[in-house]
Amino acid sequence: MVDPLPADLPPPDKGITLRELAGRSVTDLNGVGEAKAKALAAVEIRSILDLLGFYPRRYLDRSREATVAQLQPGSEGMVLVRIDRVTARRTRKGRSLVEVRASDETGRLKLTFFNQPWRERQLLEGMQAVVFGKADDYQGDLQMVGPVVDLIGDRTGRIVAVYPQSETAGLHSWDVDSFVGEALRRTMAVRGLSDPVPGEVRAGFRFMDRSDAYRAIHRPESMAEMSEARRRLVFDELLRIQMALVRRKVELERTSVGIAHPSGPIGDDPGGTDVVAEFHDRLGFELTGAQRRTIAEIAGDLTRPGPMHRLLQGDVGSGKTVVAVTALLTAVRGGRQGAFMAPTEVLAEQHHLGVAELLDGMTVPDPATLLGHRPLKVDLLTNRTTAAERRRIASQLVAGGVDILIGTHALIQEGVEFGSLGVVVIDEQHRFGVEQRAALREKNRDGTAPDVLVMTATPIPRTAAMTVYGDLDVSVLDEMPPGRTPIDTAWVAEEEAVWPAVLDEVAAGRQAYVVCPLIDESDALQARSAEEAFAELSTGVLSDLRVGLLHGRVGRADKEETMRLFRSGDLDVLVATTVIEVGVDVPNATVMVVLDAARFGIAQLHQLRGRVGRGAHVSRCFLVGEAPTPDAEERLKALVRTTDGFELAEVDLDLRGEGTIMGERQKGRNDLRLASLRRDREWVEAAREVAIDLVGDGSGLDAHPELADEVDLFLGADESAFLLKS
Ligand code: ADP
Ligand code: MG
Repeated sequence: MVDPLPADLPPPDKGITLRELAGRSVTDLNGVGEAKAKALAAVEIRSILDLLGFYPRRYLDRSREATVAQLQPGSEGMVLVRIDRVTARRTRKGRSLVEVRASDETGRLKLTFFNQPWRERQLLEGMQAVVFGKADDYQGDLQMVGPVVDLIGDRTGRIVAVYPQSETAGLHSWDVDSFVGEALRRTMAVRGLSDPVPGEVRAGFRFMDRSDAYRAIHRPESMAEMSEARRRLVFDELLRIQMALVRRKVELERTSVGIAHPSGPIGDDPGGTDVVAEFHDRLGFELTGAQRRTIAEIAGDLTRPGPMHRLLQGDVGSGKTVVAVTALLTAVRGGRQGAFMAPTEVLAEQHHLGVAELLDGMTVPDPATLLGHRPLKVDLLTNRTTAAERRRIASQLVAGGVDILIGTHALIQEGVEFGSLGVVVIDEQHRFGVEQRAALREKNRDGTAPDVLVMTATPIPRTAAMTVYGDLDVSVLDEMPPGRTPIDTAWVAEEEAVWPAVLDEVAAGRQAYVVCPLIDESDALQARSAEEAFAELSTGVLSDLRVGLLHGRVGRADKEETMRLFRSGDLDVLVATTVIEVGVDVPNATVMVVLDAARFGIAQLHQLRGRVGRGAHVSRCFLVGEAPTPDAEERLKALVRTTDGFELAEVDLDLRGEGTIMGERQKGRNDLRLASLRRDREWVEAAREVAIDLVGDGSGLDAHPELADEVDLFLGADESAFLLKS
């Protein structure tokens, strides 16, 4: 007799909600006692919802999988066999050896396990197991050594779901299988599942309904039906995420008081200067189309009263600084202040140098002065700023004597207070957390929220951006300033091959970077690796050149001196660690050599390569070393093939999966169980459109309370915060 679940809840015309399933413990199921409940908890299954969301990791299609007779010695195969006999012994060398005789109706297969004594207890006579491995011929018998084994119990049916199992927790695929079976029976018996996704949406995509989807993902009649179920459940996951993001975005816009920056100079400025226009006039170049478009998008946000919350994606060298400074100056033009936050001191210092130079000699109106204006003031605040300087900045910030403050995290520390912060630019946003962004947004005493522009030079694919940055508007600088010469990239196995090219370039008056092998363990080891590379090169192949060294442990004064010498052309070659990854801009440098390049990720190599190709001369990048894995080979080949950061981002996503973008913890605990930002790109977009439609101006979800509740259930307040981090 099937006991409907849960009996004490709404009438049968209304299906069971996921919230109800979440409130129902697995211990309500027959067969789940204390021990099994503990085993299930070890894989994060506590409620019936957790259980139904614990999807099979693969399926065995009995009508199609190979039989033992079809196994080919030398190739991999998967077969469903019965365990006939298990023997355990020790080899002469004392290794544990478990030998298993197994068979199906077409033949016999021997399974051999070394150093896995527990197999004797795991594999019992009469069990059914799906084994996957390479078959070989051993003294006339077919055998697999150390195959992957999934125990499936005595399941019948054409398609067998294989669940992730946990040997340590004592949880087997067949346990999960039978608990899922019972949960499905009891859930579907009377009421079935409620389906809060609006009928039109379901019809539009021809989705199966939710009850069917849960049943079919666990108990498919065919692989085609399983795919349909997957499609539906993937959509649900993505829809929840997008609803959380879109809702947050709309709420932010509705609830915070922003600043409507004036679109031109204010007051009766005697010079009549418009610092924004003046800045553009002073640039020695025309803005690119993409810069103009992006600047207009930002200007639109800034003049509107709602707070801007925008992401600027632009490849290395695409000219983000000009866009950022334009935004900061728009605040200054309106009599407010701008803040520019960088992730490292080196970067903050470089930005400060660069921006101060760009704005040198410009003035802002100041009625309190004799002339009616004063120099535009750009200051730097980092942890290295002296106490006295810090005090000066603090008082001038409040009084309005500082127009643009550039710095690191120091900007958001206690005691840093702006008189009237208008625009915040955050560089390399992926290195900051959501709390830090929020802290900057709350810097004004009068409760107004400054406009925020976050920038990243590590482009991520569109659909991933939609998920990771789904609460932001996005602008893209997809055009390089003219006059850039493309970088010619080569992958060479031996470093000997690259030094002649370096010598040639230096002879022609150019400069080179050599990035030494990446060592993960520690800063100190990394520094040593750089020192070794430096010692070897400067006394060896490059002994006739002026070679400098830069790494994280070089003292500040030395670092500055080395950079100054390299900038001025008094050093030919800079041997460095990834400290030069971002921000370093020496147009005369035309060669980038990356030693042991396979150790770096795609994005990092792309950033490093971005240090060259900044001037009028043809630049080259050498990726040196063997590729130890197929993935490494793919990465290096992709870099050789293209210099387009967006294309590389796609490759990276393909190779590494969303884990890299979402972070491991996020993948683990969030709602992305079936959906993949990579495989399911089109569904990300579809879900976003539906979410925008449903959320509307923010009140839209009132009409869909159950759906809204599901978002909270899966991505409750703190859980959805992860989406804004990364
Ligand atoms: P990003 O920060 O996006 O990597 P930068 O803002 O540092 O790029 O710009 C890279 C270089 O390109 C700088 O030297 C900058 O002066 C120059 N640059 C920016 N915009 C243009 C343009 N429209 N035309 C020519 N050069 C430009
Ligand atoms: Mg930059």
